[in-house]
Amino acid sequence: MNSPRLEIDLQKIRYNTRTIVERLKRRGIRVTAVTKAVCGHPAIARAMLDGGAEGLADARLTNAKRLRQAGMTCPITLIRTPMLSQVDDVVQVCEASYNTEKAVIAALAVAARQQNTVHGVILMVELGDQREGIRSQDLGAMAQHVVDLPGVALKGIGANFACLSGIAPTAAKMQALTALANDIEGQCGPFLETVSGGNSATLPWALERHAIGRINDLRLGEAILLGVDPVTGDQIGGLFSDACTLIAEVIEVDIKPVQPSVSLADHLKATIQSAPDTLGTTRLILAVGQQDSDMAGLSMLVGTTLIGATSDHLIIGMKDPALCVGSEMRFQMDYGALMRAAAAPDIQIHLRNDRPAHSVHGAGGPVTCLAPV
Ligand SMILES: *Cc1c(COP(=O)(O)O)cnc(C)c1O
Repeated sequence: MNSPRLEIDLQKIRYNTRTIVERLKRRGIRVTAVTKAVCGHPAIARAMLDGGAEGLADARLTNAKRLRQAGMTCPITLIRTPMLSQVDDVVQVCEASYNTEKAVIAALAVAARQQNTVHGVILMVELGDQREGIRSQDLGAMAQHVVDLPGVALKGIGANFACLSGIAPTAAKMQALTALANDIEGQCGPFLETVSGGNSATLPWALERHAIGRINDLRLGEAILLGVDPVTGDQIGGLFSDACTLIAEVIEVDIKPVQPSVSLADHLKATIQSAPDTLGTTRLILAVGQQDSDMAGLSMLVGTTLIGATSDHLIIGMKDPALCVGSEMRFQMDYGALMRAAAAPDIQIHLRNDRPAHSVHGAGGPVTCLAPV
């Protein structure tokens, strides 16, 4: 089998999605599944939809196009503000997009009128992450601008947390978003279909026992794919955290004498701080490196230490290696590592527990369920 490779267990993706969808449904919140970390991989996206996600979202138009080319007909939302140079394709491929710029919204409206359609606009509000977003005080005017513009329709508002700042949303921030939704409706008229409370970092807030206000949507990637809370890195109870695995092959096994610490002069080397190379530790070299994934984002098994990584090699220390040349090692990844592995040209994606989508055969086969963990 191809190595290195990314193994994705679709049954676990379906299970994670369904578990989150059901928990959030009780709170009146629907799930928009975010596919950007797996580059819009159609089978993985389909597993998310099979798990009950209402629609898909991606940050890149190329990924959205890939989904459409694979025959996905569900709503796809572009969650990164569209590039001015891409508005025609955005309107053609996506039902709606998140927006922060007047010029872009105007161009989307022109493109939509040319294509005889109406493009949905969700306005992204800045509530403290300090990445993209319209300032709260400017939101009303922008919303009115969208409402007045033929070719676009104001579908909702949304916020984003913990991407640039790493700070999870507070209850006060979420209340502010609800208040903004009510204000916009009061000022401009149309009912806001979507009030999107954020990404996986908002999940803990959404599952706590308190009023959720107007929030009725979350955009989730990491929680579904990795089963972890992005802010704390903790596993989310009841979810699989091993749906995605990176597999690499051992190409050298050697007991090396203790080395003086590696020179940091060569920027290709030692991008990861070297672990102490203790006596008696066997060094394994694997054929995978920084070009394939973020080696610092791999989780090490008990009894193994990450010694270092270069563009094409991963060096691991192991006390009692039962592994020989040609053996494979499996790693769980963080989001950054998954994202890079999914995009790396040398890494093939192997799907486990795939099954034909029901649409292919009309009636779906028996729905198999994993036992809860
Ligand atoms: C990436 C992204 C998401 C999904 O984030 P996860 O942490 O994977 O849940 C949601 N919204 C926006 C705007 C994003 O860029």
